[in-house]
Amino acid sequence: MSNYFEERVLSVHHWTDTLFSFTTTRDTSFRFKNGQFTMIGLRVNEKPLLRAYSVVSTNYDESLEFFSIKVPDGPLTSRLQNLSVGDPIIVGKKATGTLIVDNLTSGKHLYLLGTGTGLAPFMALIRDPETYERFEKVVLVHGCRQIAELAYGERITAELPKDEFLGEMIRNQLIYYPTVTREPFRNRGRVTELLTSGRLAEDTGLPAINTETDRFMMCGSPQMMNDLKGIFTQAGFKEGNHGEAGEFVLERAFAER
Ligand SMILES: Cc1cc2nc3c(=O)[nH]c(=O)nc-3n(C[C@H](O)[C@H](O)[C@H](O)COP(=O)(O)OP(=O)(O)OC[C@H]3O[C@@H](n4cnc5c(N)ncnc54)[C@H](O)[C@@H]3O)c2cc1C
Repeated sequence: MSNYFEERVLSVHHWTDTLFSFTTTRDTSFRFKNGQFTMIGLRVNEKPLLRAYSVVSTNYDESLEFFSIKVPDGPLTSRLQNLSVGDPIIVGKKATGTLIVDNLTSGKHLYLLGTGTGLAPFMALIRDPETYERFEKVVLVHGCRQIAELAYGERITAELPKDEFLGEMIRNQLIYYPTVTREPFRNRGRVTELLTSGRLAEDTGLPAINTETDRFMMCGSPQMMNDLKGIFTQAGFKEGNHGEAGEFVLERAFAER
C-alpha cells in the first residue's frame, strides 16, 4: 500500500515573490491533529520529492491548504511555485508534530509565536474550537521582514470574526499581533525583543509573562527557535513533548542545510 495520497491542486495564491499558498483535494481517510505537519511533494522522474509542510487547513475542512516559501534553487519549491489548478501533488498519509494543544498543560493565555511560514500550523489552531475551550485568550504573533509577507492577515481580521461557528470565540478570545522588522508598521521588532522588552504585554494588555498562566507554541527559523527556547527555559518554563505536556512547545519551520 502506498504511503501517499495522490491529490490535485484546487487553487493557488501568490502573496509575494517568495511566498505562496495552495489548496488541494483531501482524501477522506487523511486524519491529522490541528497544528501537525506531513510530507508533501511532487513526482520528479517517477520518484517522490518530498518535504515537511504544516497543514494550514483544519482537520474538519474538506480540502487541504499549505503555505509555502519559494526557495530559488530549492529542489522542491523551485518546482512547487509553478503549480497550477488541476496539477497532481502527493500528500503523506502520516501527520505528526509537537504543536498540538494536548502537549501543553492548562493555562489562561496561549501565545502562538510564528515567523515567516511558521504561521502555517497556527492558522489551523486558531480555527480549532478546542483552542478556545482550553485558553481564555489566544495571542497570535506573526513576525516577518515586510508588511507584504504578513500573509493571511485579511482572513484573520476580516473573515474569521464573521465565521458562523467560530466568530464569537475569535472576536472575544483571539488577539492578532502582526509585526515587521524592516519597514514602518504599527508593530515593529523581532518576536524575541517584543517578549523580553515587555512590549507585547503592553500592547496586548495582558500581564507580564509568567509560568502560572502562560503557555507558548513557537514555529520559526532554527535560530529563532533556539533564542526563544533560551528565553523561556531561563524564565522557568518547561518544554512539552509527546511524552509529557509542558509549558511551551516548538517546531522548526524549516531545517538548515
Ligand atoms: C517540521 C517542518 C515543517 C515545515 N513546514 C513548512 C511549511 O509549512 N511551509 C514551508 O514553506 N516550508 C516548511 N518547511 C520547510 C520545507 O520542508 C522545505 O524545506 C521547503 O519547502 C523548501 O524545500 P526545497 O526543496 O525547495 O528546499 P530545501 O533544500 O528544503 O531548503 C533550502 C533552504 O531554504 C531555506 N528554507 C527552507 N524552507 C524555508 C522556509 N519555510 N522559510 C524560510 N527558509 C526556508 C533553508 O535555509 C533551507 O536550508 C517545514 C520544515 C519542517 C522541518
